[in-house]
Amino acid sequence: MITVVTRFAPSPTGRLHLGHAFSALTAFRFAGVHGGRFLLRIEDIDTGRCRAEFVDGIFEDLAWLGLTWEAPVRRQSEHMEDYAAALARLQAAGVVYPCFCTRADIAAAATAPHGAQPLYPGTCRALDAQTRARRMAEPHAWRLDVARAAAITGPLSWHDAVQGEIAATPETEGDVVLARKDAGTSYHLSVTVDDALQGVTDVVRGEDLFSATHIHRLLQGLLSLPTPRYHHHPLLTGPEGKRLAKRDRAETLAELRARGVPPEAIKHQLGFA
Ligand code: GLU
Repeated sequence: MITVVTRFAPSPTGRLHLGHAFSALTAFRFAGVHGGRFLLRIEDIDTGRCRAEFVDGIFEDLAWLGLTWEAPVRRQSEHMEDYAAALARLQAAGVVYPCFCTRADIAAAATAPHGAQPLYPGTCRALDAQTRARRMAEPHAWRLDVARAAAITGPLSWHDAVQGEIAATPETEGDVVLARKDAGTSYHLSVTVDDALQGVTDVVRGEDLFSATHIHRLLQGLLSLPTPRYHHHPLLTGPEGKRLAKRDRAETLAELRARGVPPEAIKHQLGFA
């Protein structure tokens, strides 16, 4: 029997709110029910937006809720070489290409229906080798050539606890960035590498990341990494039925605590008592 390993992987770009508490408690309980291990991972590749005080806040808030996790806590910013090694393998396999586009270039070339997140139009995938070589001194990202990658791996699928067996359709995400211009890696690449390196058997996270799993599954295929089981839980909604998010100024756990709300009340409200 393989021991269940779950994780909660917040980005320290703000204080945690109830939505984070729900996700962390769901992963923590899943590990507990299965006699498994629970990990906390700090996803701080975005050095421009991540702050040390928010890392401290994550520890404080989760401890207040009664969660315990294994030490040491993995911080992505301390493992950039792992993501660089994965990127190098993808480069060697010919499934990534440098992208020189600015945000404005992409917005101008994209043909997405108004309001939808535009897929990358593939501008830099079409560059000839000479142009590419000449431009390599310019700042560039690395994008996944989804069609080429999927042709190498063939059809893939994963198991979702709610929806069952899911056929991976990474082409619906387009040629996503795997290494940002400013970071040298991306959410997709680091999360996939880390879940494998840390032996995560069950990824418990919000359903807003369901579509990202198509890309993660493809990366697992390309990098010969194991595929965890996925549990995409529904997102908590606020009073108007809108999803809770930092930008909506949803009340943070720190604010609730300061108001004298006990952790038991939060757990009860979220269905964990
Ligand atoms: N770091 C991501 C976030 O804060 C979550 C990553 C994941 O659970 O896969 O949204």
